[in-house]
Amino acid sequence: MSKLPIKNDLGFFEIRLESIGGLGAHLAGKMLAEAGVLGLGLNGAHFSSYGSEKKGTPVKSFVRFSEGELRISSPIERPHIIGVFHEALFKTVDVANGLLPDGVIIVNTSKSVDEIREELNLKSGTVAVVDALNIAVEEKTRVNTAMLGAIFRVAEFLNPEAIKNVIRATFEEKYPHLVDSNIKTFDRGYNEVVFKTFEADQNAVSEFVRQKSAVGYETQPIGGVITNPGNTILKDLSGSRQGFLPEYNADKCINCANCDIACPDLCFVWEEKEDKKGRPQMFLKGIDYQYCKGCLKCVDVCPTGALTTIRETDGYADEHRVPHKFKLASN
Ligand code: SF4
Ligand code: SF4
Repeated sequence: MSKLPIKNDLGFFEIRLESIGGLGAHLAGKMLAEAGVLGLGLNGAHFSSYGSEKKGTPVKSFVRFSEGELRISSPIERPHIIGVFHEALFKTVDVANGLLPDGVIIVNTSKSVDEIREELNLKSGTVAVVDALNIAVEEKTRVNTAMLGAIFRVAEFLNPEAIKNVIRATFEEKYPHLVDSNIKTFDRGYNEVVFKTFEADQNAVSEFVRQKSAVGYETQPIGGVITNPGNTILKDLSGSRQGFLPEYNADKCINCANCDIACPDLCFVWEEKEDKKGRPQMFLKGIDYQYCKGCLKCVDVCPTGALTTIRETDGYADEHRVPHKFKLASN
């Protein structure tokens, strides 16, 4: 009997993890492949593709299983399972691209299955949601093991005991204090994932579109020169946050600018006003959360407690964002 529930034309079962650097998708993919190879006796392959920066940019991690020969190392375009490690990716990456009509997509979110299905415009297949970030914050771990738990729940042929052995082997030598919390995180992802299957309507199945890079070796400017000035204005670093944000309380602020000096991404917004003696002075107005990656260095250096760490809740950053007023040179 086959150990794989379904296979593509080449005999492979394929999983693609869509993530942001720093969330641990590469390690999750590695552990997933190991669990399939060591636990089920499958042949497996795993590799990842990264952006130009290690943290904060999109990452894809690929896992391929086979009962026969496995000599392919191309990116996975038509996966049976997709794991999305951060909802913020929806803004920039077509995360569901290529998912097979009866495939499964698992999203780290606090939203419902129906909301995610609508946002991704999925016609069919199984949609699963798990609040992996909340689990990771509560267990003081990372979202990757919670996502693995959810993946193992929907991919029933994978053996949860095998991945627990891999988690133990991965952490016990260097970080033995993280073994139990990661096993618990895995169990919570496994138990807390919610999923629903939508029947494939043959008329409504989305066409597969091969994704092409906008800039490649044929189309990039000579020398790799960046031709649009001030393009970092468009950056959205919110995807790098892992559940926490700095909160600003103007009443406690003495405008010392320590936070501005410590912040690596120029998040602090200032305005010129008159001080009590009528002299012009710069006053801190707030934080532009579009550029805040949640490193919390600003909280560490604030001498008065005007900046504190809070759990990020849905919509908080949008509601309290104080936007920079940038002007591009060409405007
Ligand atoms: S947490 Fe603070 S220092 Fe870090 S990016 Fe956000 S505003 Fe800047
Ligand atoms: S470090 Fe604290 S007190 Fe100083 S400007 Fe920033 S928020 Fe205000």
